[in-house]
Amino acid sequence: MIAPGVMLYQTSQASSSSKQPRWGLLIDTNMLNESDIDACVSACQREHGWSSAPGSKTDAQWIRKVKLTDPESGHARFLPMMCQHCEDPPCVDVCPTGASFKRQDGIVLVNKHTCIGCRYCMMACPYKARSFIHETLQDQLAVAPRGKGTVESCTLCVHRIDRDGANAEPACAEAINQGDRKAIWFGDLHDPQSEISQRLQALGAIKLRADMGLNPGVRYQGL
Ligand code: SF4
Ligand code: SF4
Repeated sequence: MIAPGVMLYQTSQASSSSKQPRWGLLIDTNMLNESDIDACVSACQREHGWSSAPGSKTDAQWIRKVKLTDPESGHARFLPMMCQHCEDPPCVDVCPTGASFKRQDGIVLVNKHTCIGCRYCMMACPYKARSFIHETLQDQLAVAPRGKGTVESCTLCVHRIDRDGANAEPACAEAINQGDRKAIWFGDLHDPQSEISQRLQALGAIKLRADMGLNPGVRYQGL
């Protein structure tokens, strides 16, 4: 391993073999209010050491709060928006150095050692999921090395996944899945017996901008 989530033997193109897990998230927006999304964002910030100063236009945003309002009824719904860990990620296609890559388990990452900061991936990402680091950083966390002049985005909390596998719970999910209440499921989309697959099979979900054919690993209910 050369950095959290980055292993030399995994930096080649990912296989689409169904034997590999494909990690994903299922988010039930019916269960989420505005303060829940704020809790998700705060948890991600704490976990990875990024921050978002009020009014700043250059801060990192690994996860954003998105508000959808029905123009007829005025009803508002809130959802967390992060890297969708696309099966066919355009951010990987355009990267000239291979720094933007997809692991065999479907997690899309940036290798900070080889990112040259060209930001092609930011332009290619239709979900605006990536950020560029403009400022010199200090006091970084070991689980999330960051660097001025490189691009970053949600890692699906890859350090937790590499430690706990299918039992992992990303920080954003952990922040709101309390007691019997659950609103974000993490798991293996390729395993029909996993809780996330069972729930998808029973209740369905949508992929944001499914028309683009990127097959994101993050799915939403209630939209
Ligand atoms: S959401 Fe954007 S950054 Fe994430 S995998 Fe898809 S194209 Fe890449
Ligand atoms: S999965 Fe982890 S890195 Fe991604 S938005 Fe949630 S807390 Fe942040």
